[in-house]
Amino acid sequence: MDYLDSPHEECGIVGVYAPNEDVATMAFFSLFALQHRGQEAAGIAVSDGATVRLHKDVGLVGQVFMPQNLAPLQGHYAIGHTRYSTTGSSSARNAQPFLIETQHGPLAIAHNGNLVNTAELRADLLHRGVGLSSSSDSEVMTMMLAGAEGQTWEERIRATMPKWRGAYSLVVLTLNCVYAVRDPWGVRPLSVGLLLSGGHTVASESGALRTLGCLAIREVLPGEIVTLSNHALRVYQAVPPAARLARCVFEHIYFSRPDSIWDGLTVHRVRQRLGEQLAQAAPVEADVVIPAPDSSIPAAIGYSRVSGIPYNDGFVKNRYIGRTFIQPTDSLRQQGIAMKFNVIEDNVRDQRVVVIDDSIVRGNTSGPLLKLLRDAGAREIHLRITCPPIRHPCFMGVDMGTYDELIAHRMSVEAIREHIGCDSLHYLSLERMMAAINRDGGYCDACFTGNYPIEVSAGTTKTGFERNGMA
Ligand code: SF4
Repeated sequence: MDYLDSPHEECGIVGVYAPNEDVATMAFFSLFALQHRGQEAAGIAVSDGATVRLHKDVGLVGQVFMPQNLAPLQGHYAIGHTRYSTTGSSSARNAQPFLIETQHGPLAIAHNGNLVNTAELRADLLHRGVGLSSSSDSEVMTMMLAGAEGQTWEERIRATMPKWRGAYSLVVLTLNCVYAVRDPWGVRPLSVGLLLSGGHTVASESGALRTLGCLAIREVLPGEIVTLSNHALRVYQAVPPAARLARCVFEHIYFSRPDSIWDGLTVHRVRQRLGEQLAQAAPVEADVVIPAPDSSIPAAIGYSRVSGIPYNDGFVKNRYIGRTFIQPTDSLRQQGIAMKFNVIEDNVRDQRVVVIDDSIVRGNTSGPLLKLLRDAGAREIHLRITCPPIRHPCFMGVDMGTYDELIAHRMSVEAIREHIGCDSLHYLSLERMMAAINRDGGYCDACFTGNYPIEVSAGTTKTGFERNGMA
């Protein structure tokens, strides 16, 4: 349900090789297309073959980059990052890309995901006298690459990949190359496409590649390194894919743009099928189906199609209140969710309303949102959720909160229904969710089942390092 009570993706990444093009502006537009994956900080690093230049700051992509910030970023190679913090706080120090000088030349990295063995890797670096300036696992990865064995950056990346346990989709920038790297479990997405100008672009989502007019888009497959340079695109399997792949199922449910392709499937179509499955599993007598704004629109269309209950809009969202908006006065803050959403009263008054939503995480915004419907005169409210109850935290790059914060960890479905104040509440079962995705395994579902595909080190939490004085 929008960002107010949804899992938060860690970030979006892009990489560009486009000789004689304005690569910084291309990276900027790609990041713009990935803004939904992170709104706390943004950065772009560019190489012209002799120097790597970087600009990054806290804020939205459009706030961090003005023409005067982009103009100095001249070159043929670029990487970019838009951040929502998971490991590490949201301070400016954790903004990416990370750029360091190494004995082999400059090295910049942008990372989407989260390692589950950062504590050990970090302790090892500190033990060897390597200084760290942030609390981010991405900096740990950068420093490990800088000190890795190998004659080339490809060799150093390949030598280091087996030491990283967890989710990492990476773009790496050196003086003469952009590398795209994906973990062997394939947790977070990464795709590469051909630019009409002849160069190549990588991005977290294919939707961002389409923004630049890319053709021949393909996934960077689990365990692959893809090299973008003037020696043409090179793809190779650096480490074998994991026996048990673990694509994040939440890319389908909530994170990805509906026009993106994930695992060969159009996200919008999968969301429609999630709604169709919900209609079969949890029918109800009602007058109208409305989506919780905004990611639930395709699922509401699917529910409506199968149930025969008409679809309509119920909420209007103010799209321009971002995460970074200026804190309002106390009296406005008490207005809470009403500042962000208005109800179209004509569409819900005296109606029995089915509300389709993608997830309930902490459960602190569903109640106020449904109350807006009641206040507008809805007669009955039936809430349908397109995934199972989230009972376990994510340690692979998604901020879901701790066990205690997850409402479905603390409460039964009936207690949640009472808490948020609806007439009925149904979650989609794991089996039906996977039926909608229509794949035979290969996905992580740990936030529903607690069955983690990668063993998690004890004590791995979002701010574990900051408690050691690194905030
Ligand atoms: S635990 Fe949930 S959010 Fe995290 S990677 Fe697995 S499916 Fe995605």
